[in-house]
Amino acid sequence: MASETTLVLVKPDGVRRALCGEIVSRFERRGYELRGVRLLKVSRALSREHYAEHVERPFFGELVTFITSGPVLALAVRGENAILGVRSMIGATHPADSAPGTIRGDFATLLSENIVHGSDSKASAKRELSLFFPDGLL
Ligand code: UDP
Ligand code: MG
Repeated sequence: MASETTLVLVKPDGVRRALCGEIVSRFERRGYELRGVRLLKVSRALSREHYAEHVERPFFGELVTFITSGPVLALAVRGENAILGVRSMIGATHPADSAPGTIRGDFATLLSENIVHGSDSKASAKRELSLFFPDGLL
């Protein structure tokens, strides 16, 4: 047994397109548990911290502009091997490569507007959860 908690963000495009319920439902139906939920507008400072690994990349400015363009739904999702399991449900980063049945494969066509974020490792999950749920989880 390796129960893990991971951070999911329904990004501004997913919130604008009213996909929050659909996305939460997919994780719940699989058997994951919601441990934290927050709807918030991400500040530029928080977005820069969250995406710190990409600060030198050419798309960083657009990424910050996009993720701060409207509210995001932050979810702390827990379950057996949840970090990898959630990533596989989200699908490949570029929607052109995302398999049908994944969130990006079903709802996205653009790399810059690919609906969801999911932590990619234990270290990322710990770091990202502390950014979006600074008071800790229940
Ligand atoms: N991204 C982008 N252009 C690129 C690569 C990534 O706009 O050339 C965006 C994309 O929306 C992605 C996010 O930056 O989801 C973070 O990139 P990462 O490689 O961490 O992908 P993810 O972990 O989200 O699959
Ligand atoms: Mg990533």
